[in-house]
Amino acid sequence: MKIIILGSGTCIPSKKRGSPGYYLEIGGQKMLIDPGSGTLHRLGVIDVKIEEISTIFFSHSHVDHTADLIPILFAKKNLHEFSRQDDIYLYGFKGFKNYFKKLCSIYEPWIISQDYNIFVNEFNTEAISFKNWSLSIKKVEHSQESVGFRFIENSKIFTFSGDSDYCKNLVELSRDADLAILECSFPESMGCQNHLTPVKAGKIASEAGVKKLVLTHLYPICDSFNIIEECKKVFPGKVEVAEDFKSYHL
Ligand SMILES: [Zn+2]
Ligand SMILES: [Zn+2]
Repeated sequence: MKIIILGSGTCIPSKKRGSPGYYLEIGGQKMLIDPGSGTLHRLGVIDVKIEEISTIFFSHSHVDHTADLIPILFAKKNLHEFSRQDDIYLYGFKGFKNYFKKLCSIYEPWIISQDYNIFVNEFNTEAISFKNWSLSIKKVEHSQESVGFRFIENSKIFTFSGDSDYCKNLVELSRDADLAILECSFPESMGCQNHLTPVKAGKIASEAGVKKLVLTHLYPICDSFNIIEECKKVFPGKVEVAEDFKSYHL
């Protein structure tokens, strides 16, 4: 399994951090998680072609996690004359089918092709098994539809929080994870409801026995604080701040 952080920031512009976007290679396939604004063009930077992306997962509907869905499908459709196109699978939060239908009512001529299918799926179970890997999904504490993810391949576990406050489900999703990429929107002194802070993320990692914790979804103010030190007060394991284009191999 391979993960590349395409954007470790939020909706707010930052010199060093793009909007959320995560590249995932699992089961021999290339995928995206939460393609926020800029994700499409960052694929160019990491040398992944748009036509190679087989699947996209969406944790919730907020714009910083979904904004590049239409640009991705538009790019895919415009490629059709130049290369063979495979079907693409979209998996999203509860209400995703209706969300996609509404987008289609505006963009359909520009994103729907006769040459390949777009399969739109909503998470309606807590686990999906694929050929050589699996995905667990649980509701997390953010917006009404928000979920977090736990990917497993060859006994290696990768957890992604999406956006969330501290919750038991996130501890469950992170249980014994080799890598947990958890959101950490604000430094401890500026913490708010529905988002994690270094201590809240550290508490989840500590309770779950996470092997490596990466803090992401960082508002620009986070870079003025030592959030690693704040996190280490409650989590003795390995922790680092996410960096755009950093990759992890499990
Ligand atoms: Zn959000
Ligand atoms: Zn967000």
